[in-house]
Amino acid sequence: MSSSTLVEKTASELSDLLSKKDISSLEIAQACLTQIDRVDGQVHAFLHRDDTDFLAQAKASDERRGKGNLLGPLDGIPVALKDVISVKGQPLTAASKILQNYISPYDATVTRKLKEAGAVIGGRLNLDEFAMGSSTENSAYGPTRNPWDLNCVPGGSSGGSSAAVAAREAPLTLGSDTGGSIRQPASLCGVVGMKPTYGMVSRYGLAAFASSLDQIGPFSKTVEDAALLLEVISGHDPLDSTSFPSEVPSYTANLSNSQKPCVLGLPKEYFGEGMDDEVRNAVDLAVEFYRTQGHKIVEVSLPTTELAVPVYYVIATAEASSNLARYDGIRYTTRSEKAKNAIDVYAKSRGEGFGEEVKRRCILGAYGLSSGYYDAYYLRAQKTRTLIREDFNRVFKDVDAIITPTAPTPAFKFGEKSDDPISMYLSDIYTISTNLAGLPAISVPCGFTQRKLPIGFQLIGRAFEESSLLSIAHAYDREHKFGCVVPSLVKE
Ligand code: GLN
Repeated sequence: MSSSTLVEKTASELSDLLSKKDISSLEIAQACLTQIDRVDGQVHAFLHRDDTDFLAQAKASDERRGKGNLLGPLDGIPVALKDVISVKGQPLTAASKILQNYISPYDATVTRKLKEAGAVIGGRLNLDEFAMGSSTENSAYGPTRNPWDLNCVPGGSSGGSSAAVAAREAPLTLGSDTGGSIRQPASLCGVVGMKPTYGMVSRYGLAAFASSLDQIGPFSKTVEDAALLLEVISGHDPLDSTSFPSEVPSYTANLSNSQKPCVLGLPKEYFGEGMDDEVRNAVDLAVEFYRTQGHKIVEVSLPTTELAVPVYYVIATAEASSNLARYDGIRYTTRSEKAKNAIDVYAKSRGEGFGEEVKRRCILGAYGLSSGYYDAYYLRAQKTRTLIREDFNRVFKDVDAIITPTAPTPAFKFGEKSDDPISMYLSDIYTISTNLAGLPAISVPCGFTQRKLPIGFQLIGRAFEESSLLSIAHAYDREHKFGCVVPSLVKE
């Protein structure tokens, strides 16, 4: 099989081909490397590669297969990770200068689980510095470009993870989502991206941005592949005190359960002003699909929606300001050569090491937590967060899932929003509430604009009901498979 055919396969197709012994894991790994060599000069999804290690893992998988010691369906399948997820012995920069020389001394729990499942872990993927942003323009190592239009952003902060799947550089990747950073780039790059329920996937070994919101989740071409990957990375972890002690159901086995009709809620607040017409039309068509399949569509109301972005920017920045205090020029980080005394070490190292957006957020967060302002900002934001959660609880008494656009617009051009933080912050207007409420949500590709830019819709589910959410998403995806449409960049 040619290497260009191989990179277009989904992970489950690759897994089938591997079990039939039609291909080897080494061939898949080589095909990915060839593709990265061919397109990554333009896309810049990868910050770091270790080809020798990557190929050695693939060979080891082939040897296991030869001996009949398979570790599971992901054995031999490449998975590339956002550069905030620790892999022992590999760099982790979080796309920041401050971590440019840092090597992870241990594996994140998701990394350990992937290794135990035999996945072939390859490459570190670009992002907005410390996952703060919606376009990857905040990476200290240069932006990632959208494989559908190199003049456009891939979304963010997990823009490297979404672009790598779209550009067929990796069949599966992991990202992290604090306010939309998996779903928004998935939507802008035409791939599937899922944020699990808070507590479903361990955060141990994830460079923290906002600990009460961060979750790791999968990117893939299909919902079926997302289920496959999520099944491997989910589950209780004693190393993360917010990890939920529950059994992980077999998401892949339950995928076809959506045969029975369900009730989908359309929140009226998500279909208001500011949404691009082509996005609206594509999402309307997806809603129509569900209706024609016999599912019931009802209008619902989430009145706190308009409060979500301001609440998020108080809470996320507050948590970021304390999480990022550890980068002090002493441990982990690059120390300023200009430092002459202890205060200098902190101030100059952070001043030189952090980019503008990270500094803006640390200052904003520290301000919101400071005595005198704490009650007015942080406490009030936490109370409003409870109202947002209650809004969802009320709606979920009557519906099985909520359907919305993932992002208000398709991919935008570089520079279009980077001078105006507020307009950038608004690209997550449909995704942020979900993180504040801790709920699972998935972005599924649902078509293209006339200019051939991808569009995605979002399904939000009840907490810990990933199985049902995935099966509802799969019901659409298996009929449409927009994530399997290949950008022309890949074909050229
Ligand atoms: N774009 C949002 C922000 O800038 C969300 C980021 C994320 O989910 N990591 O904070």
